[in-house]
Amino acid sequence: MKHILSTVILFLSLNSFGQTKEDSIQFSRISTEILNKGKSYNELRDLTKNIGHRLSGSEAYEKSVKWAEQKLKEAGADKVWLQEVMIPVWERGKESLKIKTQNGQWKSLKMLSLGNSEGTKGKDISGEIIMVKSLDEYEKLSPEQIKDKIVFFSYPFSQSYVQTFKAYSDAAVYRSTAASLTAKKGGKFAIVRSLSSAFDDVPHTGAMRYNENVEKIPAVAIGNTTADELENLLKSQKITAKLNSNCGMKGEKLSHSVIGEITGHKDQSVIVVGGHLDSWDVGEGAHDDGAGIVQSIEVLRTFKNLGIKNNHTIRVVCFANEENGVKGGQQYGKTVKEANEKHLFALESDAGGFTPRGIALEMDESKISQIKSWSSLFLPYGAYDFEGRYSGTDIYPLKDMGIPTAELAPDSQRYFDIHHTEEDTFEKVNRRELLLGATIMTQMIYMIDKNW
Ligand SMILES: [Zn+2]
Repeated sequence: MKHILSTVILFLSLNSFGQTKEDSIQFSRISTEILNKGKSYNELRDLTKNIGHRLSGSEAYEKSVKWAEQKLKEAGADKVWLQEVMIPVWERGKESLKIKTQNGQWKSLKMLSLGNSEGTKGKDISGEIIMVKSLDEYEKLSPEQIKDKIVFFSYPFSQSYVQTFKAYSDAAVYRSTAASLTAKKGGKFAIVRSLSSAFDDVPHTGAMRYNENVEKIPAVAIGNTTADELENLLKSQKITAKLNSNCGMKGEKLSHSVIGEITGHKDQSVIVVGGHLDSWDVGEGAHDDGAGIVQSIEVLRTFKNLGIKNNHTIRVVCFANEENGVKGGQQYGKTVKEANEKHLFALESDAGGFTPRGIALEMDESKISQIKSWSSLFLPYGAYDFEGRYSGTDIYPLKDMGIPTAELAPDSQRYFDIHHTEEDTFEKVNRRELLLGATIMTQMIYMIDKNW
């Protein structure tokens, strides 16, 4: 009788794929713990206000390495270490962009050189601006038309996509290729309209790259208002632009990603949760990606504080150099491969610290269906969207090795207003939204740890 009864109880308490009453109790404990006692918001204040922006290769980045090491220890990691990574060093320096209109006056424009761009070595470079609205339009222009000119790529960030990451990837090709396209036809430098969802004049930086065998000419970004004004002026007159900048690549340097873990009780196979520790050299790198760093540390601390016995090793990775090289993510993947270290799952948070809507999943269909079968557990916490099929940039090398990867999918409406700008500050992060993100991440790691 006792045997039958326990079988019945087991049957009643088990939904498909092993979701139990115990899980919903753990979900509630995790949420209550984080929303009340979570430290990630205060840690983010500390990181952004006392260290600030932290581009790879900068002194501030090295400070953030020590900071993350300390925070992982405080969170209760059994083991904390630094992973060596060779990173590119890019510096901005002084920069200015001016235009001369018909009346002969020079006017300064708000601008930012794009990350990884070479500058003008402190000299003035000037020429007439040619505007194109799209790559198609640019392709139709001959080298004679472009020679010695400044090409202004005014491709707009589409407002039509509800998921703003789609608009971002749609426009990103202009930021990454404008310089080399311009150089190929003999132009002097490129100006791009910022990859921005906002109707303001804040310029957005971000990585660009040079094609091989093409001269490395500068590329700069201007904000949407300035871009609109420039478009208007160009309708009726010729405009000369003058750039003076000191940015450029300054070789390579040895730096580190920061790693901390709690050892698995059953085995040593690894579940990764992480974000990137570096940021661009403007603003404070609060949403991008201080948020992902403090949320990942919160996951580890919550397992410790609640005494949840993890079956597998849960490892927090604070990746170096996501913004202008992804060297931290590449090095981590390489190390995993060489050591043949078994990884079960990797989750990154690098889409901003906004209200979580779900988790994007990149893995085989059977695993996706299993995770979707847990969705009723997540719904009370506001996470319902498991439809995204992408994951974090730093964990792509793991994905390429066949490891299931994922990314926290927060609300994306405000992210590209501030992404890679001076406006990405701590004040733009809401405490509850940030902590709710950490909650969903911890709940997901709990389910994977228990069921995989
Ligand atoms: Zn990022």
